[in-house]
This record gives sequence, structure tokens and C-alpha cells, in this order.
Amino acid sequence: MTYYFSVFSIFLALSWTHFAQPFVLPKLPYAYADYAPYIDAQTMEIHLTKHHQAYVNNLNKSIEGTAHESRGIEEILLSVTSSQNDFLRNNAGGHYNHSLFWEILAPKTRQGVICDELLKEINTAFGNMDSLKKELNKAAMSRFGSGWAWLMVTPKMNLAVVSTANQDNPIMPVVENPGIPILGIDVWEHAYYLNYQNRRADYLKAVWDLIDWKVVGEKYQLARANRALLDRLVSRQKRKKKS
Ligand code: MN
Repeated sequence: MTYYFSVFSIFLALSWTHFAQPFVLPKLPYAYADYAPYIDAQTMEIHLTKHHQAYVNNLNKSIEGTAHESRGIEEILLSVTSSQNDFLRNNAGGHYNHSLFWEILAPKTRQGVICDELLKEINTAFGNMDSLKKELNKAAMSRFGSGWAWLMVTPKMNLAVVSTANQDNPIMPVVENPGIPILGIDVWEHAYYLNYQNRRADYLKAVWDLIDWKVVGEKYQLARANRALLDRLVSRQKRKKKS
């Protein structure tokens, strides 16, 4: 009996430790230099180990000792409701957004093929792949200052292109058009300045050579299957319309 009890306590302790573990910097699936010439190795390294690391550190700092410690990143993003918690908003967004960005980037020779479902949906929603890219580039170019351009799955399961400021993203209730992002393009200057300086358009042209559409397709299927999250984005829309 005592034996089972201690085993159970150890199990509880371990699972709690795991649950309450702070957020960690993800590892890049490829070497920094593998993303060149589209994004140079130094930019990749500084972007991950300095910028993203700072978001992770500050996110962990801002949730320490709060109920957020036991929550996943999406749950934290859903709690971002006002400018009162800008520190949490910026750093939770920073961690989520960059984690997605690293996942969808791959050197040309390592990229996979887009799934039929997403390709079909892109053709339905935008006409073709080129029109989607144009639309995303437009959103990215017209974002004044720092921010992101997104391709997302809306609560009604449609595809949409939006842009957000700073480290916001469409899961946050502070963002007008809700959705689950499946592709994000970082248009902060830190994402391109070393190689492209102020030439955001050149960076945007080059970044398409790094998008792994196989991964974006997987993100699309995961987003569509995430009914629980989509439903919470729906109810947010309804609430907004009422007020
Ligand atoms: Mn960035």
C-alpha cells in the first residue's frame, strides 16, 4: 500500500513538474546557414537566440507565480484582453509567433509538397497560389512599423489573410479578425535588416523560397481539427457583435 502510494506521489510530482515547466526556446530543424541566401545565417542565429530567447525569458517571468504557469500558450493568448498586460501580450505573442515561423521555414531541398486539401482551398479562396502570395505580401508591406502577416483558418473554417501589429496574433481577443494562424511572416526589421536593410519588399520576395508548404498543409489540417479553439474564437466574435 505504502509502495503504491509513494509511486503515485512520485508520478504526481513528476507530472506536475512537467506541467509547470516554463516555456523553452525551440530548436531549429536546420542549421542557420541552410536558410541562406534567402535569410542569412547571422540573422537566423540572432533572431532565434537573442530575440526569440528574450520573448521566452520574459514570458516565463510574466507568468511566474500566476495561474498561467499551468496553461498552454494558446490559453495564455486567449487571455490577452487589454493593454493592462502588454508585457504578457508581447512576450506570449512573441513566443507563439516565432515558434510557428521556424516550423514553416525550410531550405528548398528539404521542403515537402502541399496537401490537396489546402491547395484546393487556396484556389477557391484566392484564385491561385500566386494571388495568395500577392495578398500576403500586400498585408506585409502595408503593415506600418513592426508586425506580422498571416494566413489563417477562420472560425467558419475559411482561409483569410490578415496583418497584426507588434507581436499580436489572431488568437488574441484584442485582434479584430480571429483565426488560427497556419503561416506567418515576420516583418519586424530584425527579421531582415542585416541582409536587406530597409528593403522589406526584397525580403518578402525571398522568403517565399523558404516556405515549406507541406508543414503549412499540416498546420491547416490541425487548425481545422481544433474545434475547441475555433469555437472559442466564434464566441468571441458573437460577443463583439452584441456589444
Ligand atoms: Mn522576429
